[in-house]
Amino acid sequence: MNTYMRQPVTFVKGEGVWLWDDKGEKYLDALAGVAVNGLGHAHPKLVKAISEQAAKLIHVSNIYNIAEQEALADKLCEISGMDKVFFCNSGCEANEASIKLARLFGHNKGIENPEIIVMDQSFHGRTMATLSATGNRKVQAGFEPLVSGFIRVPYDDVEAVKYIASRNANVVAILVEPVQGEGGINIPKDAEAYLETLRQICDAHDWLLMLDEVQTGVGRTGTWFSFQHTTIMPDVMSLAKGLGSGVPIGACVAHGRAAEVFTYGKHGSTFGGNPLACAAGLATLNAIEEDGLRENAEKIGHVIRTGFEAEFKNIKGVTTVRNAGLMIGVELDRPCADLVKMALAEKLLINVTADNVVRLLPPLVMNEAEANELVQRLAVVIKAFLDR
Ligand SMILES: *Cc1c(COP(=O)(O)O)cnc(C)c1O
Repeated sequence: MNTYMRQPVTFVKGEGVWLWDDKGEKYLDALAGVAVNGLGHAHPKLVKAISEQAAKLIHVSNIYNIAEQEALADKLCEISGMDKVFFCNSGCEANEASIKLARLFGHNKGIENPEIIVMDQSFHGRTMATLSATGNRKVQAGFEPLVSGFIRVPYDDVEAVKYIASRNANVVAILVEPVQGEGGINIPKDAEAYLETLRQICDAHDWLLMLDEVQTGVGRTGTWFSFQHTTIMPDVMSLAKGLGSGVPIGACVAHGRAAEVFTYGKHGSTFGGNPLACAAGLATLNAIEEDGLRENAEKIGHVIRTGFEAEFKNIKGVTTVRNAGLMIGVELDRPCADLVKMALAEKLLINVTADNVVRLLPPLVMNEAEANELVQRLAVVIKAFLDR
């Protein structure tokens, strides 16, 4: 079906941050399948883990114990400090699990119409509940009636949340991205204080703090999870994108009392947590650890941001350059969707979101020389675009 605006190119192989098309042309990948290919393309440790697992067992059903699933759950709990994991196959499904968990948490304490606070410009997925939670009318238009039970407030505005808290006894949770990805790489002014204040509000009102780390998680911002830049612990965290390096997997991770909300029969998934996907997840986390990719994301993100700041110092059309590790946004003063095609012509893969923000989500394996090449190539394209 015609649900995608496709670029006229077909890739046939990849290695690290590089891709080759069917004509043998080589491209620099600064998008990583939209924050999925953190290990880059064809990472040997991932290829080996998937091949070996495929030769043994791909799927058996959650009717049985799955050793790879238990190992990945243990690893996720170890690196997050959280307690339990539900596995699914995508980001929207991870958020669906979070939303169901919050509603059940509410019902368990006698709230019949539980409501969840969500943010303007947020993105949580394309299923009915997650598009209803999403703060973008384009994602919702034509799909009404929306799922009820969401209250929207401006992003990075704790006063708005406090105001709701003072007037609404049905709220059971806040669902928020630590950094908004699709919304335009929006980083709260004081990101640490923002999450910490939301945590305090949740504690004061017995709400769950639920972080959508589908894009920010798994090393992308320089720590395993974005909340680890702060002192807080969320009650619930959703993961997907980078977790399986391209093998579909999602996870809803919970801590403390939130980890006890789902009981037998309350949720499920046929594919979720199968041996192949979990082997890919484990190999991904192990490679990030062994190869120092969180530290690299932090370092390379800095190289790219400072590189752009130097390139665009006297360029009026570029409003801001911002980054959280390897989530990088270059905001222009005008809509710039055309940049995607112009960059493609220069053999560079980028994305434009929120109309006027160039979004880069490079593989976590990018080295300094590749980062400098990315800055050079993209600076030329953006300057040419602004001069049109
Ligand atoms: C991509 C994304 C989703 C949706 O993930 P899918 O796997 O496409 O369902 C949800 N939340 C955030 C923050 C995302 O970036």
